[in-house]
Parts: sequence; C-alpha cells; structure tokens
Amino acid sequence: MSKTTLVALAALAAPAAPATALAQHPLRHPADAVEIQFARSQPVAHYTLRVDTVDLSAFAVELRLRNVPDTFRLAMVAHPEYDDRYWRYVEDLRVAAAGGPGAVTRADSALWQVVAPGGEAVVRYRIRLPAAESPRAAWRPFLAATGGLVGGPHSFMYVVGATLAPAHVTLELPSTWEAVTGLEPTADPRTFFAPSAAVLVDSPMLVGQLRSWRFAVDGVPHRVVYWPLPGAAAFDTTALVSAIERLARGAVALFGRAPYRDYSFLLQDGAYGALEHRNSVTLGAPSTELASDRRSLLAEIAHEYFHTWNLMRIHPAEYGDVDYRPPPRTRGLWWSEGLTMLYADLLLRRAGLGAFDSTRVAHLEGLMGRYFGSPGNSRFSPESVSVIAYGTAPGALGDYSASTHLQGELLGAMLDLIVRDATNGARSIDDVMRAMLERFSGERGFGGRDVERTVAHVCGCTVRPFFEAHVRGSQAIDFDRYLRLIGMRARVSWTPALDRDGRPAADLRVSAWQPPGENALSLLISNPASVWGRAGLHSGDRLVAVNGAAVPSGEEFRGLRNRLKNGDTVTVEVRRATGPWRTSVVVAGYERPVVRLEEISAATERQRALRAQWIAGSPR
Ligand SMILES: [Zn+2]
Repeated sequence: MSKTTLVALAALAAPAAPATALAQHPLRHPADAVEIQFARSQPVAHYTLRVDTVDLSAFAVELRLRNVPDTFRLAMVAHPEYDDRYWRYVEDLRVAAAGGPGAVTRADSALWQVVAPGGEAVVRYRIRLPAAESPRAAWRPFLAATGGLVGGPHSFMYVVGATLAPAHVTLELPSTWEAVTGLEPTADPRTFFAPSAAVLVDSPMLVGQLRSWRFAVDGVPHRVVYWPLPGAAAFDTTALVSAIERLARGAVALFGRAPYRDYSFLLQDGAYGALEHRNSVTLGAPSTELASDRRSLLAEIAHEYFHTWNLMRIHPAEYGDVDYRPPPRTRGLWWSEGLTMLYADLLLRRAGLGAFDSTRVAHLEGLMGRYFGSPGNSRFSPESVSVIAYGTAPGALGDYSASTHLQGELLGAMLDLIVRDATNGARSIDDVMRAMLERFSGERGFGGRDVERTVAHVCGCTVRPFFEAHVRGSQAIDFDRYLRLIGMRARVSWTPALDRDGRPAADLRVSAWQPPGENALSLLISNPASVWGRAGLHSGDRLVAVNGAAVPSGEEFRGLRNRLKNGDTVTVEVRRATGPWRTSVVVAGYERPVVRLEEISAATERQRALRAQWIAGSPR
C-alpha cells in the first residue's frame, strides 16, 4: 500500500472510528480502521495444527472461522525484530465456505483476500519448512523425529482488523509427544486458548518427547522444559533448574510480582540464540554446553527472562499490536537491550550464580574496553544505533560497527551512578526500572524523551545534558565524570591483542556477507584503523577475488581469513561504483584497550560509601 493511500485512509477513518474500540485496539496503521467493524462483531477462530511424522518437512494448519463477513483478509504477522517472513513457505492455501464456493487470492506478500459467503469459513494451508540450518536458530520452527517447535508468527494467519478475536488451538501430534506453550491450557490437554492474535503469535509451542521440571515463585507456576537430541550429553538438571529458579525469584522480587499467569522456559538442544515472549522464552541450550560450562547459557536465560519486563511490558512506543507490515524502527533499543544486559549481569550476581567477571568493577572495565576498542560505539548516537540494530542490512554504519546492547548497558551503568549520587544512595537504577514499568507497560510505550523524564523524576535531578550528549547525541561517554561520583576514575592503556596462546593476534577485523540476489560477497569493515581499512577497503565493496581466486561463500571467506598469520600478504580485488579496485593487505598485530578503574586520591567518605553500595549491587 502506498504512503498516500495510508494518509488518505487516515483522514477518512479517524473521525468515524468508535472511541471504545479504538481505546482497546491501537490503530498503528490507519488502514485497519476500515475493518473496525470486527471490534463490534468479532470472528471466532479455531486453529488445528497437525504434525505427521511421515512427512517432517511440513505441517498442516486448519483455521475454522465463524462470524466472518463474506469477504475478509488474512495475514501473517511481521515480528518487529525477527521477521522470518514465513509467508514464503505457505502452500496449498484453500478455503471452503458455508454458503457457496469460496476463493482465496494473494493481495500482497503476507496478505490474502478471502471470499467466503455464509459467515463461516474453513481455511487450510501447509507450512513447508525451509531447509534445516546448522546450527538451528532456537526461535524458528523445526520438526524432527522426537519433537519440534511450531506455532508463533511462523504458523498462524490472523484475520486483519480482528486482532482482538479470541482463538483456540488444537494440536494433532504423534501419540508420544506432548506440548508446552505459554498459551492458556483448557480441559483438553491438546487444546489451548489465546485471548488475542498478539498472544497467539507470541506463544510458540515446543512439542515432542520433553523433559520438564516445575517450581513456583509466590505461587506463580514456572516450567523448565528441555527437548534433548538423541544421545544428548548428561548434565546436572537439578543445578540448572535451581539456578533458573533463583534468577526468577530475583527478577520477581525487583518488580514486586510476576506479570504473567505462568511461565515456560523452552530449552532446546542443538540450537543457538533465543527469543523473548510475554510468558515464555525459546532458547538454544546445547546439552554439551550444559554439561561443561553453563555460565553463558545462564547469562542468556537471565537476559531473555528480564525481557519479560523490559521489552515485552516496558515497550518502545513503536511496538504496538500485531501487524503484517514491519513496525517502524525504534530509537529505544539501547534501553530495551542495554538495560536488559545490565540486569542479566545483576540478576546472576544477586542470585549468587557466578557471573563472568568476578566483580562489578571488573565487569565495567570489560565493557569499557569493548566500547573503546570499536570506535563506532562512540561515533554514533545510541538512538541511531538502535534504529539500525535489527532488520537493517550489515554495513549501515560504513566502516564502523557499534553495539546497541553495549552502548545501552554502559549508559544504564552511568545513569545508576547519577541516581545514586543525586539521592545520596537512597535510590538506584532499580527505582528507574520500576518507574518505567509503572509508566510504559500498558498501551502506551516509551518514546525518545520518556526515559529521560523517568530518570529525572526518580533522581530529582537534571539529566537532559546527559541524554542530549550521549543518547540522542554522539558524544563519547565521559566515564570519569560519572565514575568520580563513586570516587573512581578509568585508566586506559593500549596493549597488543593476544591470541589464545598468548602470542600477538592477527588483525582479522574484516568480514563478508552475501547480499540477497547478488553473486558477490559484500565486505564489512568494523574499524577503519584495522589493517583492512588502512589498505583502502570499505564496507560495501563487492569481493571479486582474494589472492587471485574467487570466494564463493561467506563461510569460505571466514575460513580463509581465519588461517591468516601475521606477516602474510593478501591481495584483495573488489568492485565498487567507481570500478574495479585492488589492494594488498599485510596482516599484522593490533592493539586493544585495557581499562582499569582506580580510586581517585581525594575520594570522600560519601563517594566511598556510594561505591560500596554500587559494588554490592544488592536490590533496593
Ligand atoms: Zn535482548
């Protein structure tokens, strides 16, 4: 749909839309207003999702609709961060109607027009799963002989304009499989209830032969579920579940109560990554990692679980109701991701679960080292890095890279010091987080100035210059200014980067990715001061040859790069708008920053007391 059509529809629809329906159903896209009729006369939906082990390359979905008009639209939801565009895998879509022949035609990539006279319709389709990836992303659907992941935006179409319509979902699974999901249970163990389309697509279903454990926090049930690969490594399940329980207790204690009816940790063997949902998390948890060192998995679990509050409840204003069109990019991810990083570390410490860094001081030193090590972090404002963090092609920052997670965690750490200092230790970032929940977990999400106002309210101080300089602006964080509040300062030294064996590491700060629909790889330079940047290469250069030979895939490029040693000379031929270009890169070592925080000589008693409080990191 063109922008002008949207504007025209908005002008037409706004005065006519009924106030009560609008209040419950935020109209992010005015085109939906023309279908507001559904708010008064909701369709009733019943989905049946069928898995047949005879063919694990697809699953079937049947959608029975009652109370629908003769013509309506179906769509698949675009996830704001992980839009996997599963509309590409819809097959055999057809409709049967109560009052005559039905018809379904594609109106746009993720949108279908359905004609089904008689008020009732049965829509059937299959999702043909794309070729298995290795390793597998934990949030994408898959099917294997002993289980899989189904549901979510990858499986279910919704009726456009009727996102508040309730639905039941029945699973038809092999007899030895069970199903765990955040959806509400019903009397039938294979049928679940979703009060809205948003809940339906945000509640993936882990199915199969599962191991599961339970615990309660203040009477609220929590489940930890594990789908093992055949021959999975044995690990200490009691220790894992008890660690997760301690994390959950810490987060619930911070906010005072759990914001959900029940919670499911959906852990999967043989997968990587994770995705937060309103009362569940899908998370890759290889058994080999659980058996050897589960610290990084616990950090990831803490992060995703904290998103239950910070992102799912405290949400950026741009993230509204479900839609088949991707939502506008948000400037607030530095808060949603960065503060979630800060709390993942803090929750692990509060639960006594051995964070990576021995102390909060060491943790901050490590973060600051990474911040200085990649100049993009202090060159681009956190708001602008938020905007390109998800769904943007790599290389948006030219020959730099920046992390919204890292920028946000450091901003959160500095704001914590500001609040502690301004309130003489009576308040901390915990109070800011609780105030954010109070203000922005309803229909209204937070916008650009809202975090600033909330911090200012909690500390009773002025933080506008901080936000102007370091959040909206791109001034490097002046750490010493805020560290002084707790009687500390940073000493930054540059030392040769070392490899695992303690020898000077080669500068491999270059990568390549495959732009869709092109045959050449595109280079990514993350630091113009790297040997690659200094040799004249730029992000976006199309790779023609390395040492005279074509490089067909990103994987081959990585292999080639990782075999390079200091002193090697590499000839790189590229293509750019100005024509072909070649250069020679001499691989060499490089320096990285090491940050040490130390006490300033004139530290006062008050500063020392604030520091001790901050280091303890205990809840307030
Ligand atoms: Zn996250």
